Amino acid sequence: MNTDVPVIDAAADEAKKAKKHAFEINKLSKRLHRQVGQAITDFGMIADGDKVMVCVSGGKDSYSLLDILLNLQKRAPIRFSIVAVNLDQKQPGFPAEVLPNYLSGLGVDFHIETQDTYSIVKKHIPEGQTMCSLCSRLRRGILYRVARELGATKIALGHHRDDIVVTMLMNMFFGSRIKGMPPKLVSDNGEFVVIRPLAYVDETDLERWAAHRQFPIIPCSLCGSQENLQRVQTKKMIREWERQYPGRIDNMLTAMGNITLSHMMDRQLFPFQTIQATGRPDPQGDKAFDEDEDCVKPVNAPAEQVVRLGWE
Ligand code: SF4
Repeated sequence: MNTDVPVIDAAADEAKKAKKHAFEINKLSKRLHRQVGQAITDFGMIADGDKVMVCVSGGKDSYSLLDILLNLQKRAPIRFSIVAVNLDQKQPGFPAEVLPNYLSGLGVDFHIETQDTYSIVKKHIPEGQTMCSLCSRLRRGILYRVARELGATKIALGHHRDDIVVTMLMNMFFGSRIKGMPPKLVSDNGEFVVIRPLAYVDETDLERWAAHRQFPIIPCSLCGSQENLQRVQTKKMIREWERQYPGRIDNMLTAMGNITLSHMMDRQLFPFQTIQATGRPDPQGDKAFDEDEDCVKPVNAPAEQVVRLGWE
């Protein structure tokens, strides 16, 4: 009996799988770099001479952000520098050596700021209550000081497309306002420009990228605080929608850049009190009894979305 055939088949099968995997990773890499480059261009996030402070927490998002920015820096037509910053908040069990080892290996300029905010938060917040709001306030103040000391002009954060859409929905559901998470905005102390170059990136792509690049992930539950439950539930909800109706998250993100103020209800932003009939047809005018709009391509839909959702 010839036993060679199954062995050869298995080897061929493995080679085929490896080839397919390499093809998929190559596609993922191109997509991530293209989307980050596009967001940087669309919002004018980085200018010649900028010093970009990349906040690295040890999670998949910030590792991916640093990784992609370092790659883009090599091919960018402008010159900008990058400094990676991690804040060691002295949470119990925080593996303090992981990030310095990783960042030294990359050869990137970096700074580890050690501040025991964990003890401060524990001291002021009663057991069982969420610590995140005080913790983030403290972290923000420290990061601004570090940015100032390092001479950074931009602060880059690893929030992605799904974070932005979830924030908008949470603001609607629980805050009665339409407000998202800006891709680029001046910091609340007026001193820096905060940028989110992953604004167009799908979180599941970052999960795959982190696994492929084998980033030394530091678990984010060390502080023992529960992640905001409403945020967790809203994220689950958009993932479920996306499963049922692929493209829905992208549509929501595009909608955030495609607002018809006259069809909203904000009296500060649109002069409802003073509008008058003009006598001229206006495609943006009221269509009276037509409640449903056509699902047509929005004016500024990203090219990738146009192709994927068949709007061409
Ligand atoms: S999860 Fe923990 S580290 Fe993160 S903001 Fe909340 S308290 Fe701070």
